[in-house]
Amino acid sequence: MKALELVAASTFELVEKPVPQPAENEILVRVKACGICGSDIHGANGSSGRRIPPIIMGHEAAGVVEETGKAVTGLAPGDRITFDSTVFCNECQFCKSGHTNLCDSRQVMGVSCGEFRRHGAYAQYVCVPQHIVHKLPEKVSFDHAAFTEPVSVAIHAVNRASITPGESAVVIGSGLIGLLVVQAAKKAGCKTIVAVDLVAERLDMATKLGATHAMMATDENVAQKIHQLCDGRGADHAFEVVGASAPIGLAIDSVRKGGTCVLVGNVTAEVNFPLQKAVTRELNVLGSCALLSTEIPEALDAIADGSIDVEPLISERISLEQAGEWFGKLESGEINCMKVLVCPEL
Ligand SMILES: [Zn+2]
Ligand SMILES: [Zn+2]
Repeated sequence: MKALELVAASTFELVEKPVPQPAENEILVRVKACGICGSDIHGANGSSGRRIPPIIMGHEAAGVVEETGKAVTGLAPGDRITFDSTVFCNECQFCKSGHTNLCDSRQVMGVSCGEFRRHGAYAQYVCVPQHIVHKLPEKVSFDHAAFTEPVSVAIHAVNRASITPGESAVVIGSGLIGLLVVQAAKKAGCKTIVAVDLVAERLDMATKLGATHAMMATDENVAQKIHQLCDGRGADHAFEVVGASAPIGLAIDSVRKGGTCVLVGNVTAEVNFPLQKAVTRELNVLGSCALLSTEIPEALDAIADGSIDVEPLISERISLEQAGEWFGKLESGEINCMKVLVCPEL
């Protein structure tokens, strides 16, 4: 089979590999579409330490069951499926309580770090354990199904906040996940949704997808304006989808007393944190990591019924042959893309 292999930092090769053989509890998937994630771009250049070469990356995929292992039940060749990015064990205390994202033996598809190496879906075929597989609703195309993981990440962030319909939210960062959080917050019943970003086109997209207000982060008195829009007291919820000191400061400043800040952005190890504001205003500051396996059906339903619209977020569909070159373009920032889908059958 053809696969895109990361062979050294920022260096890809289109390689020929044997088709992997599914173990007893695994299925072999013929990959139809696999999204390029920001974490792949930061991983490929070596900066995150989570894509140690050689590795076939790719964890946002959809495809068709090609073959099933002997012990697999309920799935058959031809089934249209997607899968969790997390390979969880289903046996530890975290898995048993439903927190599959916190599994003690967590591995991630398409990731290689000190502890494990698990090849992903920038390839014609990939093997995955049956328990992370989800069948696609008939209406959901493979391209849209490749968004299941990022949509689930957004739904998880919003579920962390426990929103009551009619409440307000500010979403800081209008990249792909931020735009999905805007939609997930709307679906959860938020009446006022303020999007904040540094790029005007992204804010336009946020408004199209459900934000009621949009603000440039560089505007003056952003937090004060957010307070005015949210009954004069501040937003009920803030979602920080960048991962840096300034946007975290804005998230803390934007919410009302007793409000909730959900931290999703994760690109820096440490930030400055306005401790006294968070303590004296008694904020709920919550981390949000990946997704729970139970949120995947929620994401697929939202994609199927259009309450989360992913079509406008597809920037480009490319072949495996083009993918190496595209990684270079995405890393250099010379093009402004939302989601690029690698389609091995193109
Ligand atoms: Zn990802
Ligand atoms: Zn586990």
